[in-house]
Amino acid sequence: MDLLKDLSKIKTAVEHALGIGLTDEDFADGREEIEHIFLHEACHAAIAHCVPWIHALEESEHTAVDELMARYLEKEIAESGGLFVHSAKEFVRELQRYPVDITMEDYRHLSTAWEEYFWLRQDLAGMAAYILTFLRHGQVIYHILPKADWEEAESAGVYKPASLAKEGFIHCSAVHQVIPVANDYYEGKADLCVLCIASKKIIAEMRYEGPTGEKCRFPHIFGELNLDAVVAVFNLVKDEDGKFLLPMGPSALI
Ligand SMILES: [Zn+2]
Repeated sequence: MDLLKDLSKIKTAVEHALGIGLTDEDFADGREEIEHIFLHEACHAAIAHCVPWIHALEESEHTAVDELMARYLEKEIAESGGLFVHSAKEFVRELQRYPVDITMEDYRHLSTAWEEYFWLRQDLAGMAAYILTFLRHGQVIYHILPKADWEEAESAGVYKPASLAKEGFIHCSAVHQVIPVANDYYEGKADLCVLCIASKKIIAEMRYEGPTGEKCRFPHIFGELNLDAVVAVFNLVKDEDGKFLLPMGPSALI
């Protein structure tokens, strides 16, 4: 591998400059750091390979998506390979240097989307698109509805489903909850679509409710939904077994 040859050239240059020979033992102290940097750069290389379109983003968005992705990916690979893993707190502190302006809460929100959804599907391009949407619109939540209801809402200029009057809120999902909700509650139904809603643009109150932990809580909207909060709409399709499916890749969820 040329890469390893290039690295050993660096070692040889140091040896030549000083007329000494370096052993593996001499590198003992730096070994963990070298592994860590190499893993990080290998993750950037993997991202460039799987998500080529991030290079087309303007610089600050490119940096933010690339550096966030690299850390989520690095953590999975380090954990499975028994390598050292930084804490989420350290990751967030590192990101401030770039600067990627992200809070601990943001980091954890994206982390849940990655661990519960995108990483399970090995969908790096989908995660990159999700991060980009997050940077542009803040947290995005999802709502499943019949296409006919969406057309009706568009002509009315507002969305107020029957469930709002009955239950007092509009049921929504986080990204990893969309498919399970569709399969549990909409089995056998066709002609459904999914609204992608920018939570900070919602005029009514939005709260996460339910059991414990971000993984299990569901976002609820307590009032009518203003349509300018809807940043995208896509069709919910089924696989050959009749199970619901979401698109992969850059058009995943924006
Ligand atoms: Zn980096």
